[in-house]
Amino acid sequence: MRQRPMRQHLLGLLPERLVLVHGPRDPGALYLSFDDGPHPEHTPRLLDLLGEHGARASFFLVGQRVERYPALVERIVAEGHAVGNHSYSHPLFRQLDLRAQLDEVERTDRLLADFDRSGPPRFRPPRGDLSLSLLLAFARRGRNLAYWSYDSLDYQSRPSAELAARLERHPPEDGDVLLMHDDSDCAAQVLARLLPAWRGAGRSLRALPPVAA
Ligand SMILES: [Zn+2]
Repeated sequence: MRQRPMRQHLLGLLPERLVLVHGPRDPGALYLSFDDGPHPEHTPRLLDLLGEHGARASFFLVGQRVERYPALVERIVAEGHAVGNHSYSHPLFRQLDLRAQLDEVERTDRLLADFDRSGPPRFRPPRGDLSLSLLLAFARRGRNLAYWSYDSLDYQSRPSAELAARLERHPPEDGDVLLMHDDSDCAAQVLARLLPAWRGAGRSLRALPPVAA
């Protein structure tokens, strides 16, 4: 049995309109998500791999990097993936007051609106660090926070073979949101091994659905 962290458990009790921890639990559905990009080297490689396997994903982008690599954001959207907001400069939110936190969110909202006009994007706070005041501000504004239900641990500098083996030993369940990162080549190495097997097993790799109106 894979243990869910306490935070995910508590957030999962909130309405999904406010905080998403799981995607729709359709049979075989798995929601890939990548934080901290776009990255000029790793994001294109990952997009190639996803394309080869007919997989879609959600990319939680850092505003500063969106400004720097707009063509990559265009490609992400053009290839049918979802984009989300992962702050402007990736600070530790607990060190900022609420106004500064909202500035980080709103600045990146404005940047992403140039690429995706489907409405305010989901927001995933850096390191998942969420204060009660930010949670309430999102509730008041009708905005959505996006977490994850399965942490790939791809930011821990472990060998990719070890991380892939862990995912094989404890396969994601239907509707799991898998946390990965596209600022290193680790996720692509893990997925190069797992995507063929997942496809063979009939799994469907999806982007998170748009926030319900
Ligand atoms: Zn991050």
